[in-house]
Amino acid sequence: MIRSALLRRIYAVILLALVVTAGCTWLLFMLMSRSLFVNIRANEMLPRARSLSAIVNAYMEGRFDENLLLRLVDVNEKDTSIMNAYLIVADREGTISLVSDEKQTLDPQKLENQISEILSGRTVVSVLKSIGGVDIVTLGVPVYDDGGAISGALLLYVPQYETLAARSALAGALAMAMGIVVPIVFLLIYALVYQMIAPLRQMRDVALRMADGSFDTRADESVNGEVGQLGSSLNRLSKALKHNISELTFERNRLVQILNGLSEGIAAVDRIGNITHINPALEHLFQAGGCPENPRMNVIPREEVWAAFDQAINSGEGAHFTLSEGERNISCAISPVHDDKGGIAGAVGLFRDITSEVRLENTRREYVANVSHEMRTPLTAMRGLIEPLRDGMVKDENARKRYYDIILREILRLSRLINDLMELSRLQSGTLAIEPENFEIAEIVYDLYERYWTTCEEHGLTLALTADFEKFPLLFSNPDRVEQLLVILLDNAIKYTPSGGHIELGGEWDDERATLRVKDSGLGIAPEHIDHIFERFYKVDKAHSGMGSGLGLSIAREMLEQMGEKIWVTSKVGEGSEFCFTVKRAAPPPMIIENE
Ligand code: ADP
Repeated sequence: MIRSALLRRIYAVILLALVVTAGCTWLLFMLMSRSLFVNIRANEMLPRARSLSAIVNAYMEGRFDENLLLRLVDVNEKDTSIMNAYLIVADREGTISLVSDEKQTLDPQKLENQISEILSGRTVVSVLKSIGGVDIVTLGVPVYDDGGAISGALLLYVPQYETLAARSALAGALAMAMGIVVPIVFLLIYALVYQMIAPLRQMRDVALRMADGSFDTRADESVNGEVGQLGSSLNRLSKALKHNISELTFERNRLVQILNGLSEGIAAVDRIGNITHINPALEHLFQAGGCPENPRMNVIPREEVWAAFDQAINSGEGAHFTLSEGERNISCAISPVHDDKGGIAGAVGLFRDITSEVRLENTRREYVANVSHEMRTPLTAMRGLIEPLRDGMVKDENARKRYYDIILREILRLSRLINDLMELSRLQSGTLAIEPENFEIAEIVYDLYERYWTTCEEHGLTLALTADFEKFPLLFSNPDRVEQLLVILLDNAIKYTPSGGHIELGGEWDDERATLRVKDSGLGIAPEHIDHIFERFYKVDKAHSGMGSGLGLSIAREMLEQMGEKIWVTSKVGEGSEFCFTVKRAAPPPMIIENE
């Protein structure tokens, strides 16, 4: 079975051509052979007819017996006849004197014409088609007397039985020859065509492999002529395609890598809004996969985003907005994508998590508002005092002195606030040098104890040291900063402990660190505030804002974080608070081994 459709068609055409050629040849033979054979026979018999005319002349002069003549000529006299013909003899006047077979019906008019033609000295040769398909050759020759004058006419009708048989036999032989030749020729052509078409089949295989993405197979270029040229063109095409495809693949991979490497989420859609590309950042941003029945919502589960995509595709208008996803804020920028002709080919969306930026912006705003607020309070107070002083409205010397005291306190408070702000900003920008060194904590603690003992007494508080700081190991940190931290905590303890309470300064150590504790029996801090007191400007009791700026603990935490240390608090409302922070111990001195 031939699988190639082209080969099948070629073979069918060749077979048809061969069969038609054989058929036509046979038909032409049948048509042409008839007249050819009959003419040959007629020419062959004509001399015999001329010879016979001498015998007929003898018969007409009574010198030859009629029966003998008929036995020589008549078709019915099979054994003796030399002509196998029907015979008609006419005299000089054209009167028929002898007919061999009366049953033969002849057209009298035609017969008369032929006789008069023969009597005029011409020879008649024609073919009659008799019933039954046997051709009859008509031969007419004049009969001459001994003086050479035309004495009559001899007409011979010779049935061509042999010719018919010979033609049939030849036709049969021809048919048989064709029956043998056609298959042989067909087989030869089959083999030839198969061989000729082999390079084309190989090229088809190469083209199919190219379509499957394999460009390593080569077409046969060795064949001469157009087929070889076609093969080399195909090979050139394959090489060019391979080169272009590998370049395109490289470019596409690079683009995909860039898109996948972006921290921003990207989604692209085509002209009808189907998603064509998303990157891992987008999947992470929207936690994709929650809606498998809807591919778009499965990727970005927000209707407003897809409405913006549709708008970009339909009207060419981009959109920029911010989405709130739980605690997060996502900035979305959706723009149409244009093709070479300026039409809209789709849309692309860029998604960025701006939660920290929004938080930072809010913090900044809060910070500015807090700073303004903290500054306005003492300024308003001072203004309220300076104006009556300027206008000379405060006459009493004691009152004036009290006014000046308050103004001075507010100025000190303001400068404390500004100092704290600057300290915090230096800490946060990393410009505050915190150089560590080995130091004894006892020195700092005793110094502070002395300084704060009087202040505590003024506030009706008692201050006690609950640890033997002399025994503390050597610490490794910045002593000034450690003192500053203790000052912040002691100041707070004094601020938030009502008169009659007591404050304790204690601590302990382990192999790595020492922990310093400032404990008071003051107001305490409610659990809902505990997590916030280390934030900037956070105050538990905002009504008593005069007690502090809300920056002390945030400075403390920031400083300790930079030193790699921790601060924490335990507190109970109405019972007091305990603030603790860690300080690293100094490395043990190297052992000195004395040689004796
Ligand atoms: P402030 O200058 O207001 O004291 P801090 O940052 O030092 O600012 O303290 C933040 C808040 O923490 C205070 O406003 C106060 O409400 C609370 N707080 C701090 N220390 C204590 C303490 N020892 N006892 C009770 N509350 C305290």
